[in-house]
Formats: sequence, structure tokens, C-alpha cells
Amino acid sequence: MTIPPEVQAPLIAALRRAGVRECGGVLLGEHVGTNDFAVRSLTVHQPGAVAAFVRGMGGMVKAIKTYCRSKGNDFTRFNYLGEWHSHPLFSVQPSAKDHTTMRELATDRRVGANFVVLLVFRLHCQQLEGSAHTYLPDGSVHLSKLDLEGIE
Ligand SMILES: [Zn+2]
Repeated sequence: MTIPPEVQAPLIAALRRAGVRECGGVLLGEHVGTNDFAVRSLTVHQPGAVAAFVRGMGGMVKAIKTYCRSKGNDFTRFNYLGEWHSHPLFSVQPSAKDHTTMRELATDRRVGANFVVLLVFRLHCQQLEGSAHTYLPDGSVHLSKLDLEGIE
């Protein structure tokens, strides 16, 4: 899972704005190789909206549709990847509740996803830190490699 610099910039800005409050949104990505994805865009929902980031928000559905349309509705290459949110005050490992929420999303047949990704970020000493997990419809979760492109 690659996060290119042009996606990191708005992400870091959102984390700074949110301060000690959590924020999050959806990940829009590109399939760049076998089991390899790049985040091309992400939505940012301000603190307060976080608990409900997944389904209930019409704005997110619209953002996903707009993104797919802008890429010519080439869904196998450009599509919804999953969710992100911040843990400003603790480790970027997903909480038990995060795992439960994402597993529900991955196994929800109405969503119909082949997989969903959860990225958790925080700013630590002004540096972007993150973790990536992939959830499959069989209920399994897999740690994924997160490549913050351009950061040593
Ligand atoms: Zn969390």
C-alpha cells in the first residue's frame, strides 16, 4: 500500500487541523500490481463525524462515485479501497473496535468488496506514522506493508 507525497500532504494538513481529536475518511485507490495498491485520493471528515465514517455518510458515497467517474469507471483499476482514521494520542495499531468494524464491513455482502483496507495514522514528532491492515470477506485480517513514499 503506497501513499504518494501528493496524498500525504493533505493527510498531514488534516491531522494537524484535528490536533488531539480523531479524524478520518475513505481511501480511493489504484490497483498498481498484484496485491499492490496506491492511494490516489482520500476524503477528510472532521472530528465529530468520525464514529460513523463507514456507511451512513452520503457524502462519502458521492466522493467514491465522483472518483470512479473521473477515472472512466475503470473499477478494477480505480476504486474504493477502504477507510482511514487517526489515533492522535496512541499507537497506530487498530483497536479491537476498529478490527470489529472493518471485519463487519469486509464481510457485509451489501458492500460486496473483495477486501477493505484500514489505514491508521498519527503525527509523531511532526512525522507521519501509519499502519495498514487488509480485511477479507472470509473474516481474516492481514497486516500489510505501508509505504510512505518519499519518507526515509
Ligand atoms: Zn481506531
